[in-house]
Amino acid sequence: MSNPAPGALETVRAFVNTRDTDDDIELLSAPDELVAWLGEHQLLGDERDLHATAADLRRAIELREALRAHLLSHHHEPLRDGAAAVLDAASRRARLTVRFAGGDEIVLEPESGGVDGALGRLLAIIADAIAEGSWQRLKACPADTCQWAFYDASRNRSAVWCDMRVCGNRAKVRGFRERTRGGDQPG
Ligand SMILES: [Zn+2]
Repeated sequence: MSNPAPGALETVRAFVNTRDTDDDIELLSAPDELVAWLGEHQLLGDERDLHATAADLRRAIELREALRAHLLSHHHEPLRDGAAAVLDAASRRARLTVRFAGGDEIVLEPESGGVDGALGRLLAIIADAIAEGSWQRLKACPADTCQWAFYDASRNRSAVWCDMRVCGNRAKVRGFRERTRGGDQPG
């Protein structure tokens, strides 16, 4: 739980981290595992006995990786082509709807049920985070071997690595090796 995000945004971070590249762990390797994960994170509403399909799982993973692309873009990098369209499509499938909750409050809610609705609740959390300015602080570690989602709580939003002691140092060592190797080249 290093560098957790505040409030509901932590659920989005946990979703992106269902794939752990460094340890080669995939928590969503079957439709049942997806349903269990969504249930544990209170994204299923009041649905019981939900059965996900292989297509649900495929779409959930496609959304997860598009979210990771967004988190990588939060290092002032361009967003991968097609990543926004994946979120858009998930929003349409969920039929996210603005509901007026009284007291000048609006909430985004999915009209769809099932996995589509659950993924829509994740998107609603993101919409809230965009509105309050915390979304840009959710980042993915740019180390190819890591890609871990973390929350950048630094004052000037300058954090690059998930953990300076691990990925930051690895990058420094690699840069050092590349520089010295370059110096050793014959000719
Ligand atoms: Zn990392």
